[in-house]
Amino acid sequence: MTQARKRFGQNFLHDGQVIADIIASFAPRENDECIEIGPGLGALTIPLLKKIKYLQAVEIDRDLIPLLLQSSKNIGHLIIHQGDVLSFDFHPLVKNNKKLRIIGNLPYNISTPLIFHLLTQLDIIEDMVFMLQQEVVDRMAAPPNNKQYGRLSVMVQYHCQVESLFVIPPSAFTPQPKVYSKLVHLIPHLQKPFIAKDEKLFADIVREAFGQRRKTIRNSLKDLVSDDIFKQLNISPLSRAENLSVADYVNLSNQLTL
Ligand code: SAM
Repeated sequence: MTQARKRFGQNFLHDGQVIADIIASFAPRENDECIEIGPGLGALTIPLLKKIKYLQAVEIDRDLIPLLLQSSKNIGHLIIHQGDVLSFDFHPLVKNNKKLRIIGNLPYNISTPLIFHLLTQLDIIEDMVFMLQQEVVDRMAAPPNNKQYGRLSVMVQYHCQVESLFVIPPSAFTPQPKVYSKLVHLIPHLQKPFIAKDEKLFADIVREAFGQRRKTIRNSLKDLVSDDIFKQLNISPLSRAENLSVADYVNLSNQLTL
């Protein structure tokens, strides 16, 4: 087997049952426009191709690409885009206005910036099934008043429905990571439950609030939000960032947009 590269977060899946469970959760249909992030040596790619015959992928490691093209060549049509997914624009992959379905056993070292990068392209994404470090999935799914609730939770939940699926032990990978993993299904809201009139301002407020999560919200947002606004919105200025719901952050930003 090729030497796994740590700098590319390479932990290759080898457990057949786990692979089957991931593919079953993704449930690809033949006409879906599927994209895999980080196909590696093809643990998910090959079974996906067997089902849907056509797949595109984004992979940074140039040395893996010829190996994967070789092993997939009699199975289906695989197009690999070599590059860094953190700066990858998915829009050119859209054909006939069909939204993309994205899957990946993601490199843990880039998972949070990657999720933020994907949140900027949800206009063309139908859904995403990702394997991530368990703790990152738990943060995405966390409700308010919870230690794991943070900027990632608010921003992901603002844009998507989050379904935390199942835990995968380190023994499913070679080499074994030090942490447990979890599968998550992210489905962009067709209609957002709460709409920020200015999404950049909303994102700035959330970043400011959680930048100093131990401070009261009055202190961390003192340059932006007056006591009057907290009062109008029925938010205690003495609460902390983790006590405010997604709706509270949307309401705060909308109040400042008026
Ligand atoms: N899908 C394979 C599997 O399940 O065995 C490999 C998963 S491995 C955790 C992550 C994969 O993402 C590797 O193939 C790695 O080279 C690739 N990768 C790492 N950083 C990347 C980046 N910035 N852009 C695109 N691919 C990347």
